[in-house]
Amino acid sequence: MIKIGVTGAAGRMGKTLIEAVANAEGVELTAALERPESSLIGADSGELAGLGKNGVVIAGDINEVVDQFDVLIDFTAPVATLANASVCAAAGKKMVIGTTGFTPEQEQQLLANQDKTALCKAANFSTGVNVTLKLLRQAAEILGDDYDIEIYEAHHRHKVDAPSGTALAMGEAVAAGVERNLRDVAIYGREGQTGARKRETIGFATVRGGDVVGDHTVMFMADGERVEISHKASSRMSFARGAVRAAAWIAGQDAGLYDMQDVLGL
Ligand code: NAD
Repeated sequence: MIKIGVTGAAGRMGKTLIEAVANAEGVELTAALERPESSLIGADSGELAGLGKNGVVIAGDINEVVDQFDVLIDFTAPVATLANASVCAAAGKKMVIGTTGFTPEQEQQLLANQDKTALCKAANFSTGVNVTLKLLRQAAEILGDDYDIEIYEAHHRHKVDAPSGTALAMGEAVAAGVERNLRDVAIYGREGQTGARKRETIGFATVRGGDVVGDHTVMFMADGERVEISHKASSRMSFARGAVRAAAWIAGQDAGLYDMQDVLGL
């Protein structure tokens, strides 16, 4: 049985992850964490997730529970994930990282832990999105420079980073397909006298509101036709199931950096 810790246990993803671990085979929840100042420290994590008592009490300090799990699943916030990663790396514990919104410096600091332990990091853990990423790269390779590429994403009103990590991953996939560097060609907003669109640019449009779990559409547009490749998430369970699958997989891997494409063998 692979022992799983979930941090951000009271968050939208945390509760869904606790349920996904409970419903998966070969894994068991052995630790749950929240921020130290949370009023939920000491509460039963199963009750919090609406599953009834599971006996795993929410802790506020990772150092107290780091010897209780094999893999930590972390969907929290960049600063919290960085702190958790250094504790896990020092203890040789593996991690599945779903947090998004790292600055380039934070990303570099996080990934430095791959020398000491196995990390599986993905902007999106759903199987559907990972298949979509593969399709996008193929479409971009075939359609090439003849098509204008734009990316639209919509999320719930509570999301704090933009564009979404998934939209950026889609941008990377299409940019790789047309052999461009996303950093050089991305346009993250348009306003005023922007001038005509430059062919090589890849534009992002962000919508925030309501309870949208995650919509993404990549458009390939030419004179006379438009190809759209879309993914729409209607439940966080698709991310949570993928993250638990990644946790079971990474338990058997050596130190290094992996993503969901590795887990799925894509
Ligand atoms: P949320 O705000 O509902 O939950 C975050 C939780 O983390 C909160 O409960 C918060 O108290 C907790 N937290 C913050 N600091 C902590 C700390 N030091 N220790 C323990 N817990 C701490 O947010 P959410 O919607 O669950 O999303 C969380 C993150 O996951 C975001 O970055 C989001 O973009 C990302 N996300 C990724 C995927 C994916 O598939 N990769 C899918 C959905 C969300």
